[in-house]
Amino acid sequence: MSIVVQKYGGTSVGTPEKIKNIAEKIISRKEKGDGVVVVVSAMGKTTDLLLEMSKGITKNPHKRELDMLMSTGEQVTITLVAMALHERGHDCISLTGFQAGIQTQGYHTKARIHDIDIEKVNSHLKEGKIVVVAGFQGMNENGDITTLGRGGSDTTAVALAAKLGCSCEIYTDVDGIYTVDPRVFSTARKLDYISYEEMLEMASLGAGVMETRAVEMGQKFNVPIYVALSMEDWPGTYIKGMDMTMEKRAITGLSISDKDLMVTVNHIKYDTKNIAYIFNTLAKMDVNVDMISQTAPVNGFVNLSFTAPKLDENTILNIMKDLKGKLNDIEVEIERDITKLSVVGIGMRSQSGVAAKMFDIFAENDISFKQVTTSEIRISYTISTKDRNKAVEVVATEFDL
Ligand code: ADP
Ligand code: ASP
Ligand code: MG
Repeated sequence: MSIVVQKYGGTSVGTPEKIKNIAEKIISRKEKGDGVVVVVSAMGKTTDLLLEMSKGITKNPHKRELDMLMSTGEQVTITLVAMALHERGHDCISLTGFQAGIQTQGYHTKARIHDIDIEKVNSHLKEGKIVVVAGFQGMNENGDITTLGRGGSDTTAVALAAKLGCSCEIYTDVDGIYTVDPRVFSTARKLDYISYEEMLEMASLGAGVMETRAVEMGQKFNVPIYVALSMEDWPGTYIKGMDMTMEKRAITGLSISDKDLMVTVNHIKYDTKNIAYIFNTLAKMDVNVDMISQTAPVNGFVNLSFTAPKLDENTILNIMKDLKGKLNDIEVEIERDITKLSVVGIGMRSQSGVAAKMFDIFAENDISFKQVTTSEIRISYTISTKDRNKAVEVVATEFDL
């Protein structure tokens, strides 16, 4: 029996009507003779609503309780999907993350999947049942429910596919991966395929269509991933390893992210131990720092800027308070209206001139940037959020995206 993991995102299970609709899609796959594991997200904006509810009680909920609360969203969906399948005469079972054997490690609200005990899922599949698993959740070594970070149902799906040795289909509200988020640049093109490497960069730089860790896991375990529309049968996009048939485009896509803030620490006494101390403190609190820039020492002092998720602002503010006690005379500034714009393409490895063209485009359009970082296959700029739409338009147009 060949097996497939299908994942349906929040919009695709947003109403009872939509749940009935995806039940038909699941059944038609089962009727082809495949073993089907279904991973679902919370309905519509449920996770956001649950977070809002907690804010009505406290500004600082214990993260264990927050995980407990957020995990309920997916639990509602698995039962409704199972009921819709039963109603249509199909044998199936709903499982929470824990019941599906998903073991996690790490911090509450951003735990990682450590392993999956796949026995239970396998035995239900062997009995011919459709297995419906709650995405986004697992259980840690203390027996507590943990969640995997926003968008984490993608990770649940790819991890299950890796463990089952099968492919993973991600059904969502967009009919594939586009060169640019179609909500931001309406004339973006749909890609037939994209390499794991490029998708990983695009996802980590803001293309929220796939969760970053899901792509990472797909690449590590070579899981073929197909992203398509849940409501219609239109061709989607394959995410796969690079092969000879794939064109090495200089620029495959453009990602933007408004999710980071920029912290500038001025007047740090220049000592590499001080810089190491700052980043070690951030790392210990699990703050994921992205772009870093530092001025050359002047009179023995340097200024340092870095970007980090807005979601970690409270943690960052506490760390900065602590730093002010340890490193005398530092001044801290936080800029929230920043956008990260990145271009990604595997062809950058062999083609030069992309950075030069980007600098030209920014100069010609009077767009200033605060930081630039590069990797082998991407270039990222921090710009003011007010310039965001204009920057996307001109860069996407110039690179024919
Ligand atoms: P789901 O709830 O199904 O997980 P998401 O909202 O997480 O769906 O992801 C789908 C959304 O991702 C789309 O509506 C689209 O606006 C956005 N998106 C961002 N970048 C891209 C891109 N490059 N290609 C396609 N969609 C993108
Ligand atoms: N429901 C979770 C969220 O909204 C997980 C997911 O949708 O993938 O982030
Ligand atoms: Mg998603």
